[in-house]
Amino acid sequence: MYRVSSDLQESVSADVSGQQALAKRHLWMHFTRMGAYEDSEVPVIERGEGCYVYDTHGKRYLDGLSALYCVNIGHGRAELGEAAAEQAKRLGFYTNWSYAHPPSIELAARIAALAPGDLNRVFFVSGGSEAVETAWKLAKAYHAACGEPRRHKIVSRYLAYHGTSMGALTATGLPPLREPFEPLTPGGRHVANTNSYRWKEDRDPLWAAEAIEEAILFEGPHTVAAVILEPVQNGGGCFVPQEGYFQRVREICDRHGVLLISDEVICSWGRIGHWFGSERYDYLPDIITTAKGMTSAYAPMGAVIASDRIAEPFLHARAIFNHGFTFGGHPMACAVAMANIDVMERERICEHVLEREGEFRAMLESLRDLPIVGDVRGAGYFCAIELVKDKQTKQTFDAHESEELLRGFLSGELFKRGLICRTDDRGDPIVQLSPPLIADREQFEEIESILRPVLSEAWGRIVKR
Ligand code: PLP
Repeated sequence: MYRVSSDLQESVSADVSGQQALAKRHLWMHFTRMGAYEDSEVPVIERGEGCYVYDTHGKRYLDGLSALYCVNIGHGRAELGEAAAEQAKRLGFYTNWSYAHPPSIELAARIAALAPGDLNRVFFVSGGSEAVETAWKLAKAYHAACGEPRRHKIVSRYLAYHGTSMGALTATGLPPLREPFEPLTPGGRHVANTNSYRWKEDRDPLWAAEAIEEAILFEGPHTVAAVILEPVQNGGGCFVPQEGYFQRVREICDRHGVLLISDEVICSWGRIGHWFGSERYDYLPDIITTAKGMTSAYAPMGAVIASDRIAEPFLHARAIFNHGFTFGGHPMACAVAMANIDVMERERICEHVLEREGEFRAMLESLRDLPIVGDVRGAGYFCAIELVKDKQTKQTFDAHESEELLRGFLSGELFKRGLICRTDDRGDPIVQLSPPLIADREQFEEIESILRPVLSEAWGRIVKR
């Protein structure tokens, strides 16, 4: 535990209240009901070490969400900051617009070597939404360059989250995030996801893949640029693909000349036990989008990785992909990404996840004896528990109950007891866990020791009363 002397404690308290006032007055938090902090403290995280973070009171939390699926190698890795500092001394910034610099060249080559198949061309951006935005524009530009300029639409899945910029938001399949900002970029089409929890047993397991073909046929294949899918869908709570799902999707895309974009903003860099999530399910996309764990979030960075076929039309004569962002391939972010890859290789992070995922999963499965736990699903260190009112019928909570369950009790109580994880009801209510990839038995036991009593209490308060 992080302790401070009593003199220091007073000045820390003064700092903390000052910070609270400043946060409430000036900081605009993302996706946050700021009114919720009118009468309570903004949680201020100031320090991290391994799988744990500490708030300004010195209280320790197990970061069961890797700070939004990001800090894959864990907190407090000074060597990533040192890599950035070294790079800053040499060259703090130069652009990738018409120029290159050694860190972007070296990182692109390292990523190409790690990426599956012939995905050899790397376009750097600064985050996931920029990556998705770029991938869609690249798909359109590719088709136009191949003489099919009418291909502009994108197919994605219900409840999927692909980001918030206007193009990425079009792919996002969450109505409450979309509706307030309509009209969005034209051309978005949504289809069923792979959540099989409530499917009838005799349902064709590949029907969700077939739904993609139906959508493409309905829209007219000559108008569809790409299908964008996550290896494991985050929105709705870690929906895994059915056996053969991605192979069928690949066939469908090839049959209709549509590109397959694998959105691996979460599912790459070891999150599901592989450098890239598509490797786990053995499919080869045309384009991968990535961000978050690419630098373990020590620097904001993302990338679009394209196959040789997709890059080819842009490599000759006057051809150009007319797109870019000032900070894409920032040299300090590149240096951090390479230091992150060094740590991942040295500590065999992907192997560690594959070795330990069974134990992590077994801990979560052990919670199935609780009446509120309906389903446990996910892959690697990326899992969700779906909460239900009735295990037998799989009945879910209505909006009011869900609000009371998640915001009224669970998220606050878990945090109070020192566990950061995600409670979400954008689909059916879930608790999601995505710990740093260095997590081991000690952390799994700690997660269980907090989740079990809190979920039991939730049942008593909300359902049984
Ligand atoms: N795509 C996926 C699959 C994501 O999970 C996210 C963010 O969580 C994004 C895109 C958007 O990333 P960012 O928040 O970095 O813009």
